[in-house]
Amino acid sequence: MTALTELSDAELQDLVVQAGGKAFQARQVAHWLWKHGVTDYAQMRNVPARLRDALAAAHAVQASRVRHADLAEDGTEKLLVEFGDGETVECVIIPDGERTTLCISTQVGCPVGCVFCASGMFGVRRNLTAAEIAEQVLHARARLGEGRRLTNLVVMGMGEPMLNLDGLLPALRRIHDPDGIGMGARRITVSTSGYPRQMERFAAADPSYNLAVSLHAADDRLRKQLVPTATSPVAEIVAAAHRYFGQKGREVTYEVVLLDGKNDRPRDADAMIALLGQLPCTVNLIPWNPVEEIVAREGLRRPQTLRVDAFAAALRAGGLKVTVRRQRGADRSAACGQLRLRQSPPPAGAPAG
Ligand code: SF4
Repeated sequence: MTALTELSDAELQDLVVQAGGKAFQARQVAHWLWKHGVTDYAQMRNVPARLRDALAAAHAVQASRVRHADLAEDGTEKLLVEFGDGETVECVIIPDGERTTLCISTQVGCPVGCVFCASGMFGVRRNLTAAEIAEQVLHARARLGEGRRLTNLVVMGMGEPMLNLDGLLPALRRIHDPDGIGMGARRITVSTSGYPRQMERFAAADPSYNLAVSLHAADDRLRKQLVPTATSPVAEIVAAAHRYFGQKGREVTYEVVLLDGKNDRPRDADAMIALLGQLPCTVNLIPWNPVEEIVAREGLRRPQTLRVDAFAAALRAGGLKVTVRRQRGADRSAACGQLRLRQSPPPAGAPAG
């Protein structure tokens, strides 16, 4: 059964008119869907009961539901979101003072297979639809208490956003649209592990979003070890990021998951300074959050704070702007790189990541 949220505005209008309603009533229905995030037809109070019944006969309201929520001690909340076919993804609400950031997913699993990441351990099962992506924002918004609102959105959860632009772009339009969810484009950051051609298409759609590039290493050989499916040279990825986003005055963020002894050595800092030193950007260092199976399989370790500080200091001395991400929600596996396929077996023959 198709959900109303899966319809474009034009499709919803056609549906309402075919069901005996008026065009303006389609806008009322859309308002209930996206401004109020209703989950039930009965909540659409200004829509006539006859029209609601006609719509309900063939359409669900939403394409997903929250199957499980897990609250960490620091207030981070992870939602397990389930779709009509039983597949699930996770999204994470991260409160931080005045800010509340939501991290959403774009694919069930991930095809990129970064060696340190739980999301990519079983490969990708499928892309999310635009509605399945946008509804994660509705579910998160519904869980916020009185007076709290989502201030920032990061597309950094499960999946590689650039490999699902057909779902992501209409979802972001709905999230950004003042008649939709209405979140400013500048509060939205999309993260990619680097696909120059797709980055170009993304930027052409709306360059006012922020871009984060998961770089992890400035040296192509080392990067290939950490991101085995990476095919584009780092110089090409960086050039694409700055061609499309730097030119618009948007700052590009480079994410670096730091792994002890792998990519946090002085020579790794030197390579990063050589690559990024002259560019308007911020490097965000993320000390790796250990995942049991990956520790056992890859022998990876989280670096000590002293090593992280030394790496950050070296980058700063080289002229780079650097931030270090605090660990949030780790007691519920909600930290970066720990979102994973849960409660579903891996697909037959899936790569081990
Ligand atoms: S870190 Fe991101 S791109 Fe890499 S496997 Fe995990 S979800 Fe995919």
